[in-house]
Amino acid sequence: MNQIATRVQIVQERIVAAAQRAGRDPHQITLVAVTKTHPLEVLQQAIAAGVVHLGESRLQEAEPKISALHAQRPDLTWHMIGHLQRNKAKAAIGMFDLLHTVDSLRLAETLNRHYEQRVADIAATPEHSRLNVLLQINVSGEATKEGFDLPGGVQNHAGLPYFLANVERIVALPYLRVQGLMTIAPWQPDPEAARPVFRALRELRDHLAARWPQAEWSQLSMGMTDDFEVAIEEGATLVRVGRAIFGERA
Ligand SMILES: *Cc1c(COP(=O)(O)O)cnc(C)c1O
Repeated sequence: MNQIATRVQIVQERIVAAAQRAGRDPHQITLVAVTKTHPLEVLQQAIAAGVVHLGESRLQEAEPKISALHAQRPDLTWHMIGHLQRNKAKAAIGMFDLLHTVDSLRLAETLNRHYEQRVADIAATPEHSRLNVLLQINVSGEATKEGFDLPGGVQNHAGLPYFLANVERIVALPYLRVQGLMTIAPWQPDPEAARPVFRALRELRDHLAARWPQAEWSQLSMGMTDDFEVAIEEGATLVRVGRAIFGERA
């Protein structure tokens, strides 16, 4: 086995072990291999090792990779995990299966408008009649992070009403399918330090799911190379792992 295949297997085993520690079914957790900065050959090795979910951060970088692989592997699922600018919304919806980084009402509305047009253009099947999105939340309060600003999640009594008013309007958009929430924990040497951040995201999800049961809220995208096991213990369904599979990025 090559090194990438070995590392994919090790990460999968760690996912299973973390799920079992938490009394969860490992099948509830999807490994998204984060391939940003890596060339097409590296993606092909990961795919040969059984990876079917790929995460990219930048449209310009992702576009040629997705195009190159699409013909042979239409079964791959492409995840947009980087910040999305509104002027790139139209391009993004044609490329990705799930956008993890919807971080404002205006972006959601822009995506909704472009997807309405796309549904008409491609005569979409019911499955493709809505764009799959996650709402990115800054629950840690770290100043540099993208996302809806809600440090502390549901405990943030000052910020919660404004956030909920945004969610109310987003879940009403007819061409979006809100599947859940995404967060990035601040990097800290001890992965345990991320646990309160992941827990806050899960509690926020539970709050939103009770309030708007018509949306799905099934997905929690949280956890990266340094903290994915803690994230799984706190309920992650999508873990975004780059370096543990591909090594350090240049
Ligand atoms: C780069 C990136 C990852 C992967 O990070 P690793 O530490 O390499 O696992 C996950 N999520 C987001 C949003 C990223 O930008």
